[in-house]
Amino acid sequence: MPTKCALCSNNVNPEKEITCDTCGICIHSTCSDLSRAEVQCVLAKDRHISFNCKTCKKKSTELTNLVTTIEALRKEIEVLKDQVSLNTQNNSRNIYEKEEIVNEIAERQRRATNIIVFGLPVSEADDVSQSKVNDNSKVTKVIGALASVPYDNVKAFRIGRPRTDNKPRPVKVVLKSVNEAISILKNKHKLRDHHLYNNLNIAADQTPMQREYLNTLRDELLKKGDPNLTIRYINNIPKIVPKSKN
Ligand SMILES: [Zn+2]
Ligand SMILES: [Zn+2]
Repeated sequence: MPTKCALCSNNVNPEKEITCDTCGICIHSTCSDLSRAEVQCVLAKDRHISFNCKTCKKKSTELTNLVTTIEALRKEIEVLKDQVSLNTQNNSRNIYEKEEIVNEIAERQRRATNIIVFGLPVSEADDVSQSKVNDNSKVTKVIGALASVPYDNVKAFRIGRPRTDNKPRPVKVVLKSVNEAISILKNKHKLRDHHLYNNLNIAADQTPMQREYLNTLRDELLKKGDPNLTIRYINNIPKIVPKSKN
């Protein structure tokens, strides 16, 4: 079957005419849009330049464009990947922080019905359950002295590590309501003047985070060195405020 020119469809002799180096189709040099000098170069026996038909040239350009596009996309993907990994890190950190806050709130609520009594003498009883009963009755008397409400069935237990210096360990007291705890804490200054309990102290049952915050405030107060300032609880939150003038 004779070879046809890809442009005019007439017979063509591949030996004498131009062949595409990529797809191998043949075209008359007269059908091509090459200049005479270009045709001579392409037809030379030991030609150094390559010839590509229009279709192959277009495909080659498209391929080049495609490669450029892919390179650009690849760079974009790298940037997106970095952003996604950063977002994932942030999200997991946020979730962790939220969980911590929720836990802290729950822990504060749980402790809000408690008070801590410091300096309550250790019972002489050898029996553990008897000394617990003694602690309970002592605590009941102490908080009974601070509020007019009768207190019974308070749950009291020693907390903290056993002490080597013989000082009594603090006693955690679990009350029935937050209001009970608040009213006792409000009246705790009465202990100072009490003939039996003036060595005792009572504090709120704070979480480690609350204690840390209070310590930070105390450091800040110390740094300010202003004798007219003090720390006071406002809506249950400690704040540095001016001392009220009596
Ligand atoms: Zn032709
Ligand atoms: Zn071609």
